[in-house]
Amino acid sequence: MQQGSINVQTENIFPIIKKFLYSDHEIFLRELVSNAVDATQKVKTLKGLGELQSEIENLKVEVILDKEAGTLTVRDNGIGMTAEEVEKYINQIAFSGAEEFVEKYKDAEGSQAIIGHFGLGFYSAFMVAEKVEIISKSHREGSEAVRWECDGSPNYSMEATTKEGFGTDIVLHIAEDSQEFLEDQRISGILNKYCKFMPVDIQYGTLSEQVDAPDGETDEKGEIKKVSVEVPNIINNPSPAWMKKPVDLEADDYTQFYRELYPMNFEDPMFHIHLNVDYPFNLTGILYFPRLKKQMDMQKNRIHLYSNQVFITDNVENIVPEFLTLLHGVIDSPDIPLNVSRSYLQEDGNVKKISAHISKKVSDKLNSMFKENRSDFEEKWDDLKVFAEYGMLTDDKFYERAKFALYKTTKDEYFTFDELKEKVKDNQKDKNGKIVILYTPDMEAHHAYLSEIEEHGYEVLQLDGPLVSHLMTKLEGQDSEVQFKRVDADVVERLIEKEDALPSKLSKEQEEALQPIVEEVLNNKSYSVSFASMSPSGSPIVITQSEFMRRMKEQQAAGGGGMTMFGELPDNYQIMINSNHELIGKIVEEADAEKKKAMIKQATDLARLSQGLLKGEALTSFIKRSIELIN
Ligand code: ADP
Repeated sequence: MQQGSINVQTENIFPIIKKFLYSDHEIFLRELVSNAVDATQKVKTLKGLGELQSEIENLKVEVILDKEAGTLTVRDNGIGMTAEEVEKYINQIAFSGAEEFVEKYKDAEGSQAIIGHFGLGFYSAFMVAEKVEIISKSHREGSEAVRWECDGSPNYSMEATTKEGFGTDIVLHIAEDSQEFLEDQRISGILNKYCKFMPVDIQYGTLSEQVDAPDGETDEKGEIKKVSVEVPNIINNPSPAWMKKPVDLEADDYTQFYRELYPMNFEDPMFHIHLNVDYPFNLTGILYFPRLKKQMDMQKNRIHLYSNQVFITDNVENIVPEFLTLLHGVIDSPDIPLNVSRSYLQEDGNVKKISAHISKKVSDKLNSMFKENRSDFEEKWDDLKVFAEYGMLTDDKFYERAKFALYKTTKDEYFTFDELKEKVKDNQKDKNGKIVILYTPDMEAHHAYLSEIEEHGYEVLQLDGPLVSHLMTKLEGQDSEVQFKRVDADVVERLIEKEDALPSKLSKEQEEALQPIVEEVLNNKSYSVSFASMSPSGSPIVITQSEFMRRMKEQQAAGGGGMTMFGELPDNYQIMINSNHELIGKIVEEADAEKKKAMIKQATDLARLSQGLLKGEALTSFIKRSIELIN
């Protein structure tokens, strides 16, 4: 028997492994299974090259839990190791990167990804095991099997042993503080998380299956009897859809794969993109577009990141642009460095290229869908727009390419931005030459404004969602010809200011006399009072909100733009008095001061009521007053 100590410098590697990888102990199994998968695939390669004489059959990796013995074994019939190879790969090489690892990345986030990279994958076993055995036999003709054992101290022992067939068993004697890894549920959970799409069959225990009785015996009904047999429980799908060629897949295969990926999800995606790049980096994957409602539901089904079919993480923030994290699916790339902290990832050249590539693919896909079948695209747009808008706001390249972006009018017609401009440029150009684009986030709530606007023949967009006000600011910034105004931003006569303003029936003096009385009656700092020369057939009083102030407030609420330094912005409403309305004329002429105030009160309350701004006590007393009026 050979005894030795692993490497003097690394005397303290085990406490380090335990400490830095503490929160992710479970990844030991991913490391061991993926080593076993690698060894198995090498056998396939050798056979393919004609360098392996013996027959290979039933290549697989087996995970064996023996609760009584307190062991967890990862078994493969891969290439195996000779004693020299164990010496070289396990005793020496494994620790070569250890010091560097400790120095550089002790504070790094995601240190779980580091371990594999530094050739410490195998040693992650010591996070959960008090003793590890390797029993291995090389595929080489005439090799002798070797047994290696280490108890987590730098001392190991190695001896010759016997083993049937080539391959490797890694036997973990699970430590006292890691008994959870002797639980069947826990192990199958980990396998399902990390090994679900590894490229070699992975067996974990057996399953009972009902099959026809072998002797063909029949039951009373004359049907062949069923017997139950134990079959291997293969926990993975070794050839997941993203590894296949798109030409080999039907639409349904993509849906099936989506369900495989997110078994707890019940809504199928709208469509997908199959990514396949091999230059200048390697990347495969399938991205799915879920139906996104107004809320950005980012947490539920996240994109899974794989490296050569080994699950790495479903936290791809900083790896792909944030708006792309709204998508679902899989990205598999061996070129994304996993050995570094997340903040470093953002700066990584490969990661940037990959992100830019994905963003381009996504916009290409949307453009081609738009061109190929516009009506179908329009149908999808409402479920797509939050995603598209988010992309347009946060990724300039995506914005430039977003020719497919649609704007829906209150008549449920969809226009691109250019089409929209073309459509409204005559009727909605104001006296300064700006094209004013009107919009509403809520047709119900804005019914009163919309019905007046309709008489002017203006188009109104339905724009809602959390990003709208940011998006408009962006569009205005890119195109100085246009200006967005919400339908309640001003009285209809002034939303789009034309040369021919209506003459006012009230004189300056009459207005100046009335204004302070209205202010006194309102007695509310949120309202300011002014006069507008509107159509006599319109409302006597209209409540508006300044476009600018309202957008500021919305953007503050959406958490953008560093505006918190002003504190929370107050509500700000304009009471616009229609100086041409008959009722206003009557109020002006009313000689009895008390009666005048009562008229103002009732008229302003009605205006507030129409906007849902009359609440609580004000509403109660309004109703009481109104009843008295009827009486
Ligand atoms: P890495 O996998 O990153 O190289 P590991 O510490 O996990 O680092 O493994 C070190 C080496 O030990 C591997 O590169 C491989 O040569 C060898 N090895 C580990 N597990 C097996 C196995 N099951 N079969 C054959 N060789 C293995």
